[in-house]
Amino acid sequence: MVDLHVHSNCSDGTYDPGRLPQLAQTLGLAGIALTDHDTTIGNDEFLAAARALGMPAVAGVEISAEYTNPDSQRADDGEMHILGYFPRWDATTPASLTPLATMRDNRHVRNPLILERLRALGVAISYDDVCRHAACDVVGRPHIAAVLLHKGYVKSIQEAFDRYIGDHAPAYVPKRILPQRTAIEMIVHAGGVAVLAHPRTLRVKSMPTLATLLAPLCAYGLAGIEVYYAAHTAHESEQYCALAARLGLLITGGSDFHGAHKPELKLGCGFGNLCVPDECFTTIMHYQQRPQALNPDEYPISNKE
Ligand code: AMP
Ligand code: FE
Ligand code: FE
Ligand code: ZN
Repeated sequence: MVDLHVHSNCSDGTYDPGRLPQLAQTLGLAGIALTDHDTTIGNDEFLAAARALGMPAVAGVEISAEYTNPDSQRADDGEMHILGYFPRWDATTPASLTPLATMRDNRHVRNPLILERLRALGVAISYDDVCRHAACDVVGRPHIAAVLLHKGYVKSIQEAFDRYIGDHAPAYVPKRILPQRTAIEMIVHAGGVAVLAHPRTLRVKSMPTLATLLAPLCAYGLAGIEVYYAAHTAHESEQYCALAARLGLLITGGSDFHGAHKPELKLGCGFGNLCVPDECFTTIMHYQQRPQALNPDEYPISNKE
């Protein structure tokens, strides 16, 4: 089995990217992908470590995109996550992903606003402390939660989210994220494979609704669905798998491992019963992007003359 959804301390995980291939090998995984939020900064270290061990590995990213749940009555600040996999990763790839740097910079505007709200609630922590808990420049709520835990304001990371910084908690401030089209096209233009992450989190009530949501994404270049995921039930995975087949999308899967930030979630097996087939890894590695204009009959008339 493989794990194609893994975070390092370059975003909100706790393992160094260079340690993850070793952990995967110890667990007997046949492949692993690093998919940090909004950054590819750990990818070279991750791939070098994997290469040294002979561990099959793919470089990736997880990008937050705008989302409104069509089945929800309230206008909440939804997010859709798009995974990008780069089978032919090289040092020049990140250049096409520069909008991610803007997203990371925006976090340094948003985080102090969260701390201001916390102060109004009687919780005083410093932004220096928060940044010290982050290894790289994707600084966010998990690092704020870690400081709240260390300072004794809460007894667990979960309590920090429930009481203070969760999506519907009093100190929450939304972050700036990308339009869906930008997120997907950025991955495609960088030579990557774009995959819809954990479709369960879109909270739609039916598969036809999900199919409708996916139609424009496929037009932008979406190539796959994360069918296997730690929090998916077997029934949900079956439904996503059937939808992927119907739409001609490839299937992937992963645990969403975050190390000690989500201690109950294990690399490879998720909550204990996740099993992502090896083919998900090989399919990504062998994926060839469809040429932009495949069929001359589809060219606009002016191009034919
Ligand atoms: P941010 O990008 O700064 O908004 O932080 C988002 C991250 O916080 C997610 O990727 C999760 O790792 C974590 N997170 C969000 N909501 C919760 C929650 N309710 N409980 C625990 N972790 C959460
Ligand atoms: Fe995360
Ligand atoms: Fe995600
Ligand atoms: Zn993730």
